[in-house]
Amino acid sequence: MRLESKVALVTGSTSGIGLAIAHEMARSGARVMLNGFGNVEESVKAVSAHGTEVDYNGADLTSPDEIESLFAATEKRFGQVDILVNNAGIQHVAEIENFPVDRWDSVIALNLSAAFHCMRHALPGMKKRNFGRIVNIASVHGLVGSTGKAAYVAAKHGIMGLTKVAALETAPFDVTCNAICPGWVLTPLVQQQINARAAEKGTSIDEERHSLLIEKQPSGKFVTPEQIGKMAVFLCGEDAREMRGAAISMDGAWAAQ
Ligand code: NAD
Repeated sequence: MRLESKVALVTGSTSGIGLAIAHEMARSGARVMLNGFGNVEESVKAVSAHGTEVDYNGADLTSPDEIESLFAATEKRFGQVDILVNNAGIQHVAEIENFPVDRWDSVIALNLSAAFHCMRHALPGMKKRNFGRIVNIASVHGLVGSTGKAAYVAAKHGIMGLTKVAALETAPFDVTCNAICPGWVLTPLVQQQINARAAEKGTSIDEERHSLLIEKQPSGKFVTPEQIGKMAVFLCGEDAREMRGAAISMDGAWAAQ
């Protein structure tokens, strides 16, 4: 139970990668605050099954005020935040000249600014207690670009910079900040893109799942949410204490090209 007595706040943890991270944190003994929309009761029940304390807060992370309430609620319930996983994220696909301005604003607000707001609430306590782990779920799109994903790529490159600054500012402490950069992971976020491609091209979902993978990810296999969850737990342990400001690619060699 590597993370026993630690408190982990995982944003966007009612689905996909965040839910898998919450499972792995709880399996490792951490008490977990879940956040996100939909699938709430099932998520709380499933993560609680690991025998650790679990709570849920439905803050909309595009609102700085709701992020403040999320931290107040987590501290009220568990006393502190030792582990912060900035995971909540959305996607919108359109070329720059057609990119809806409100979608740009919401992708930047959730995929980048929310991580900044969460970090500014988490860091004072982490520094004071001289322990903290921040894991930012970035993306291969924090390292390379793709057409149609201006807001997402800009936000994910931004979070890479934020990760480095946080790593430098916490270097004198037992507080670390790293980024995991996944390639394709088959979650609802990617399934939506597969469905849109199939509808646009008149192809089948299976064909599009395959073509989306082989276009970018040389291994031809999806990364699994569980693999990312286990990496996040590793980053929270003592063995990862001197991993600081790192970009950890889990992308089937996508970024190696
Ligand atoms: P997902 O759609 O399965 O889950 C997203 C989660 O974020 C859900 O719990 C959702 O309720 C929550 N969420 C959405 N809007 C929110 C808001 N305003 N406030 C709070 N929570 C909100 O997506 P996923 O694929 O698991 O993605 C999780 C993270 O991983 C994202 O940051 C994404 O960019 C990143 N990522 C995903 C992939 C992939 O291939 N799926 C690859 C690289 C990076």
